[in-house]
Amino acid sequence: MAQLSPLLKQATPVVVDHGEGVYLYDVDGKRHLDFTAGIGVTSTGHCHPDVVRAAQEQIGKLIHGQYTTVMHKPLLELTERLGGVLPSGLDSLFYANSGSEAVEAALRLSRQATGRPNVIVFQGGFHGRTVAAASMTTSGTRFSAGIGPLMAGVHVAPFPYAYHYGWDEETATKFALRELDYLFATVSAPNETAAFFVEPVLGEGGYVPANTAFLAGLRERADAHGILLVLDEVQTGFGRTGRFWGHDHFGVHPDVVLIAKGLASGFPLSGIAASESLMAKAWPGSQGGTYGGNAVSCAAAIATLEVIQRDGLVENAAERGRQLLDGARLIADKTAAIGDVRGLGLLVGSEFTTADGEPDTATAQKAQKAAADHGLLLLTCGAFMNVVRMVPPLVVDAAQVDDALRIWGEVVSTVTGS
Ligand code: PMP
Repeated sequence: MAQLSPLLKQATPVVVDHGEGVYLYDVDGKRHLDFTAGIGVTSTGHCHPDVVRAAQEQIGKLIHGQYTTVMHKPLLELTERLGGVLPSGLDSLFYANSGSEAVEAALRLSRQATGRPNVIVFQGGFHGRTVAAASMTTSGTRFSAGIGPLMAGVHVAPFPYAYHYGWDEETATKFALRELDYLFATVSAPNETAAFFVEPVLGEGGYVPANTAFLAGLRERADAHGILLVLDEVQTGFGRTGRFWGHDHFGVHPDVVLIAKGLASGFPLSGIAASESLMAKAWPGSQGGTYGGNAVSCAAAIATLEVIQRDGLVENAAERGRQLLDGARLIADKTAAIGDVRGLGLLVGSEFTTADGEPDTATAQKAQKAAADHGLLLLTCGAFMNVVRMVPPLVVDAAQVDDALRIWGEVVSTVTGS
């Protein structure tokens, strides 16, 4: 009898039968409040009827149209619709299947377009698990352990993770930018640097938002030296943070945006967006794959965009996100075990620390497991896996947020004895 490889490690023992909205139902009929949303993938909720209908209709018409041979209608229609939400000037799109592939595509584009070998990433960033993307990932050594030698040409600068440093945001930001300049002077000269790859909010790295001064500092240096600013919006795009793009909070204009996850409500689809003139500098034929821009995934993405815009899901993410953040902060106020609660929109993280401020992985894991026992699915993140994150579908309502907070409050009180 075959069995699942231990590589398919799961955070909870739940075996799902079906999903609906914010809920997952397991094979024993138990209902779970899904505050993981597949790490933000099921943006419109599980099996949103409009997304299901669009995908079913598409399946009967065309499943696969290899874009190196023919073009198909859903790909063209999706591209046109994305034009309405992408940052101005980023109107040329390339499609793939996963976030990691989008990272690979942007890496190739950056190197080919600039003729420079290096990329600079920011500590705590997560960009994926293919070897190139893992080489650019610094949110935990577990993502790159044992697979080296890693790709050359990746250099790491600090991210303004103020709580970790024990500083205020301004000090952390000044430090991060000063270190970046030091990196330019010591390791990766600006004219050897093709791109910055940065997340608007560190996702796997612990739900740490960037800030306006930091991203403005990157933009300034990118402009001064012809470096590309690549924003990895794989986890933060499509309304997740309460604005359409994570970077909308910080008023920065990217050269390249990476999209995946929430884009197609769970169907595999990703992409990169850049200006046509930049995209034209990539070498034709060097990018691509068999399944990129699959017709059913594109149809699901079109329906997803329609639902997000029609049903005001970005605004909902902002309002419910505030409710969730405020509620999680009130819970943290009652215990010394949670040192920081932070986030943007429906990305909320509670960081567990010991009395002397060290990461408290054990308590975070205990709380996550206890929440699952009480029907609330959560995940941990952060380099030390000591941040419990809440990332429900964007359709979550006020009563469901209250429900999750009630369970979370009980769990935190039991686990921390406070
Ligand atoms: N970038 C970011 C910011 C992500 O959060 C992820 C996935 N967690 C990826 C890239 C990689 O995406 P995928 O798992 O689809 O390859």
